Amino acid sequence: MTTSIRIGSGRNELLQKVEALSGQHLANCYQCGTCAAGCPFHQAMDLLPDALIQHLRLGLPGILERQTFWICAGCDTCSDRCPRGLDIARIMEALRQICLREGGDHPALTQLERADLGALPPIALVASMRRNSG
Ligand code: SF4
Ligand code: SF4
Repeated sequence: MTTSIRIGSGRNELLQKVEALSGQHLANCYQCGTCAAGCPFHQAMDLLPDALIQHLRLGLPGILERQTFWICAGCDTCSDRCPRGLDIARIMEALRQICLREGGDHPALTQLERADLGALPPIALVASMRRNSG
Protein backbone atom coordinates (compact mmCIF):
# COMPACT_ATOMS: atom_id res chain seq x y z
CA MET A 1 0.00 0.00 0.00
CA THR A 2 1.39 3.44 -0.85
CA THR A 3 0.58 6.91 0.33
CA SER A 4 1.38 10.10 -1.50
CA ILE A 5 3.96 11.96 0.54
CA ARG A 6 5.61 15.29 -0.10
CA ILE A 7 9.31 15.21 0.67
CA GLY A 8 11.11 18.40 1.47
CA SER A 9 10.06 21.56 3.22
CA GLY A 10 6.92 21.75 5.27
CA ARG A 11 4.69 19.01 6.61
CA ASN A 12 3.88 15.88 4.66
CA GLU A 13 0.52 14.22 4.19
CA LEU A 14 1.26 11.04 6.11
CA LEU A 15 2.59 13.03 9.06
CA GLN A 16 -0.52 15.17 9.09
CA LYS A 17 -2.73 12.09 8.99
CA VAL A 18 -0.84 10.36 11.80
CA GLU A 19 -0.97 13.47 13.96
CA ALA A 20 -4.69 13.91 13.34
CA LEU A 21 -5.49 10.28 14.20
CA SER A 22 -3.14 9.97 17.16
CA GLY A 23 -3.52 13.44 18.64
CA GLN A 24 0.27 13.57 19.00
CA HIS A 25 2.58 16.35 17.84
CA LEU A 26 5.64 14.55 16.52
CA ALA A 27 7.80 17.66 16.54
CA ASN A 28 7.90 17.25 20.34
CA CYS A 29 10.13 14.18 19.99
CA TYR A 30 13.78 14.99 20.64
CA GLN A 31 15.05 11.56 19.59
CA CYS A 32 16.31 10.40 22.96
CA GLY A 33 15.63 6.74 22.11
CA THR A 34 13.92 5.93 25.41
CA CYS A 35 10.92 4.49 23.58
CA ALA A 36 13.07 2.10 21.55
CA ALA A 37 15.21 1.10 24.52
CA GLY A 38 12.23 0.02 26.59
CA CYS A 39 10.16 -1.65 23.90
CA PRO A 40 9.84 -5.38 24.62
CA PHE A 41 9.47 -6.09 20.91
CA HIS A 42 12.18 -3.86 19.49
CA GLN A 43 14.28 -6.78 18.24
CA ALA A 44 11.47 -7.86 15.93
CA MET A 45 10.90 -4.39 14.48
CA ASP A 46 12.34 -3.32 11.15
CA LEU A 47 12.40 0.31 12.28
CA LEU A 48 12.69 1.28 15.93
CA PRO A 49 9.99 3.57 17.32
CA ASP A 50 12.23 6.64 17.54
CA ALA A 51 13.44 6.08 13.97
CA LEU A 52 9.86 5.59 12.81
CA ILE A 53 8.97 8.98 14.24
CA GLN A 54 11.95 10.55 12.53
CA HIS A 55 11.04 8.95 9.20
CA LEU A 56 7.53 10.32 9.58
CA ARG A 57 8.77 13.80 10.33
CA LEU A 58 11.13 13.78 7.37
CA GLY A 59 8.51 12.35 5.04
CA LEU A 60 10.72 9.44 4.06
CA PRO A 61 9.18 6.85 1.70
CA GLY A 62 8.16 3.29 2.57
CA ILE A 63 6.88 3.89 6.10
CA LEU A 64 3.58 2.09 5.51
CA GLU A 65 5.45 -0.93 4.20
CA ARG A 66 7.31 -1.32 7.50
CA GLN A 67 6.38 -4.05 9.98
CA THR A 68 7.08 -2.06 13.14
CA PHE A 69 3.55 -0.91 13.83
CA TRP A 70 2.21 -4.44 13.23
CA ILE A 71 4.76 -5.84 15.67
CA CYS A 72 3.80 -3.24 18.28
CA ALA A 73 1.57 -4.82 20.92
CA GLY A 74 0.25 -1.55 22.24
CA CYS A 75 1.70 -2.21 25.68
CA ASP A 76 2.20 1.52 26.38
CA THR A 77 5.68 1.08 27.87
CA CYS A 78 7.08 3.65 25.45
CA SER A 79 4.23 6.07 26.05
CA ASP A 80 4.66 5.82 29.82
CA ARG A 81 8.39 6.51 29.59
CA CYS A 82 8.61 9.20 26.94
CA PRO A 83 10.11 12.30 28.57
CA ARG A 84 8.27 14.48 26.07
CA GLY A 85 4.87 13.03 26.87
CA LEU A 86 4.33 11.51 23.46
CA ASP A 87 1.92 8.59 23.27
CA ILE A 88 3.92 6.48 20.83
CA ALA A 89 1.46 3.61 21.07
CA ARG A 90 -1.18 5.91 19.61
CA ILE A 91 1.16 6.74 16.75
CA MET A 92 1.54 3.02 16.04
CA GLU A 93 -2.22 2.62 16.18
CA ALA A 94 -2.68 5.52 13.78
CA LEU A 95 -0.38 3.86 11.24
CA ARG A 96 -2.35 0.61 11.52
CA GLN A 97 -5.58 2.52 11.00
CA ILE A 98 -4.23 4.27 7.93
CA CYS A 99 -3.23 0.95 6.39
CA LEU A 100 -6.47 -0.81 7.27
CA ARG A 101 -8.76 2.00 6.21
CA GLU A 102 -6.73 3.11 3.22
CA GLY A 103 -6.49 6.60 4.57
CA GLY A 104 -10.14 6.84 5.64
CA ASP A 105 -11.65 8.16 8.82
CA HIS A 106 -11.00 6.88 12.31
CA PRO A 107 -12.34 3.32 12.40
CA ALA A 108 -15.49 2.44 14.26
CA LEU A 109 -15.20 -1.29 14.80
CA THR A 110 -18.89 -1.59 15.65
CA GLN A 111 -19.71 -0.48 12.12
CA LEU A 112 -17.56 -3.07 10.37
CA GLU A 113 -19.10 -6.16 8.84
CA ARG A 114 -18.34 -9.44 10.61
CA ALA A 115 -16.42 -10.70 7.58
CA ASP A 116 -14.24 -7.59 7.64
CA LEU A 117 -13.58 -8.00 11.35
CA GLY A 118 -12.45 -11.56 10.77
CA ALA A 119 -9.98 -10.45 8.13
CA LEU A 120 -8.22 -7.94 10.36
CA PRO A 121 -4.88 -8.75 11.99
CA PRO A 122 -5.53 -9.57 15.68
CA ILE A 123 -3.31 -6.72 16.88
CA ALA A 124 -5.44 -4.26 14.97
CA LEU A 125 -8.54 -5.42 16.82
CA VAL A 126 -6.93 -5.69 20.24
CA ALA A 127 -5.18 -2.34 20.08
CA SER A 128 -8.18 -0.53 18.70
CA MET A 129 -10.55 -1.99 21.29
CA ARG A 130 -8.13 -1.05 24.06
CA ARG A 131 -7.93 2.49 22.74
CA ASN A 132 -11.66 2.87 22.47
CA SER A 133 -12.68 1.25 25.71
CA GLY A 134 -10.98 3.24 28.31
S1 SF4 B 1 10.97 8.52 24.11
FE1 SF4 B 1 9.74 10.23 23.28
S2 SF4 B 1 11.22 11.92 22.94
FE2 SF4 B 1 12.39 10.00 23.18
S3 SF4 B 1 12.70 9.25 21.06
FE3 SF4 B 1 10.86 8.24 21.86
S4 SF4 B 1 9.15 9.56 21.23
FE4 SF4 B 1 11.03 10.76 21.01
S1 SF4 C 1 3.47 0.23 22.73
FE1 SF4 C 1 4.43 -0.81 20.98
S2 SF4 C 1 6.24 0.42 20.46
FE2 SF4 C 1 5.58 0.99 22.54
S3 SF4 C 1 6.81 -0.28 23.92
FE3 SF4 C 1 4.85 -1.36 23.57
S4 SF4 C 1 5.23 -2.72 21.83
FE4 SF4 C 1 6.90 -1.20 21.86
